[in-house]
Amino acid sequence: MLKVAKFGGSSVAGAEQFKKVKAIIESDPSRRIVVSSAAGKRNSGDHKLTDLLYLCHAHITYGVSCEDIIGTIRTRFAEIRDELGLQYDVEGDFDKLIPRLDRYMGVDELVSRGEYFTSRLLAEYLGYRFVDAADCVFFGFDGQIDKGKTYAAIADALDKYERILIPGFYGKLPTGKIKVMSRGGSDISGALAAAAVNADVYENWTDVSGILVADPRIVDNPAPISTITYAELQELAFMGASVLHEDSILPVKEKGINLNIRNTNRPQDPGTMIVDEVAEGDGSEEERFITGIAGRRDFTILTVSKRSMNTSLCLRQTLEILDRFHVPVEHITLGLDSFALVASTKALGDSVYDVIADIQKTVTPDDVNIKEGISLVATVGRKMTSRPGTSGRLFHALGKNGINIRTIAQGADELSIIVGVENADFEKAIRVIYERFAG
Ligand code: ASP
Repeated sequence: MLKVAKFGGSSVAGAEQFKKVKAIIESDPSRRIVVSSAAGKRNSGDHKLTDLLYLCHAHITYGVSCEDIIGTIRTRFAEIRDELGLQYDVEGDFDKLIPRLDRYMGVDELVSRGEYFTSRLLAEYLGYRFVDAADCVFFGFDGQIDKGKTYAAIADALDKYERILIPGFYGKLPTGKIKVMSRGGSDISGALAAAAVNADVYENWTDVSGILVADPRIVDNPAPISTITYAELQELAFMGASVLHEDSILPVKEKGINLNIRNTNRPQDPGTMIVDEVAEGDGSEEERFITGIAGRRDFTILTVSKRSMNTSLCLRQTLEILDRFHVPVEHITLGLDSFALVASTKALGDSVYDVIADIQKTVTPDDVNIKEGISLVATVGRKMTSRPGTSGRLFHALGKNGINIRTIAQGADELSIIVGVENADFEKAIRVIYERFAG
């Protein structure tokens, strides 16, 4: 068994959190690769080191002194070192950067130092070999990760050192310069490490006990999802759930590696396991019938009607018009003499009038109608495919609660049922569906 454990900023925010990480690592010897973010917030009034480093760079750019911020960052590292009784001369290394700050250090290199120093300290504390991301995570000239080179270097390092710690979020360009990934990029570094060594599990340690069935700002105390497939997760993310970024999932998804989201502050919780496929009847299936609910507000329904229309032709013409205005279509419903398209109101923007004018000219319909203020709510679940009557129960629950459904769509893979409701009913619809299927 081989596990890669990535710890996010809140998991390494200070000495107390380092202790929790150590206990987690020591409780399972198969966690042989650790990937670390930069120290994050210790409390709600605190700052993430990455934010402070970006702020520092902004000061330098505008010629404002950043001495105070530099001092704060330096002290954070020194405090961790001292509280844990470590040897690393973090101030010494940190001070070497200062003469280069003004002119010679790019923003990426500066910002990457959050991960670098946090990881140096954590590696010493855990007794793991520090392997700099500049020596094992490589970008190509196109700015994309060079997976072949990266995977080979990480696998080599693990072979050589047995237990390694890699800073997340950055890597090296072919020019030798440091490049950082997008914000939250340590998730990607962790996934790359897991894919590189064909890990059995990629653990992503954070400050929540997994993905929740619904948004906790809408549903009180929603249950965590214990198992979800990559396909379901994609569906939920597309419909607005804030879960892991697509890029961070891809390397492990490609290799069929399970991804386990865990809580550093509650290691006893199993968290959410994201898997390729759930084997039927292996006992791992949870009781809950649906996996998750997510939704997005502010869509427009565009309805085109024409008696005895040639539906394929008129639909194609309409889609071409929307394409010309770069408006992606979310759903299409077909009637005999009409069809309706759902698109984001923002994407339509001011082009909506030109779109309608073009439809009138090209399609020559009897009527074109738009209805704004629609929310889409997706109920996602792999079990819905095999069970008849799900849509009926869903519509019944919404109807009974006075929620009018304006449009309905079921994903072609039957993983989700999507309903369009008035924006005013958005939150209520999510609560009703949660109560009916997951409460
Ligand atoms: N430290 C970086 C950020 O705050 C990367 C990460 O934490 O994943 O975005």
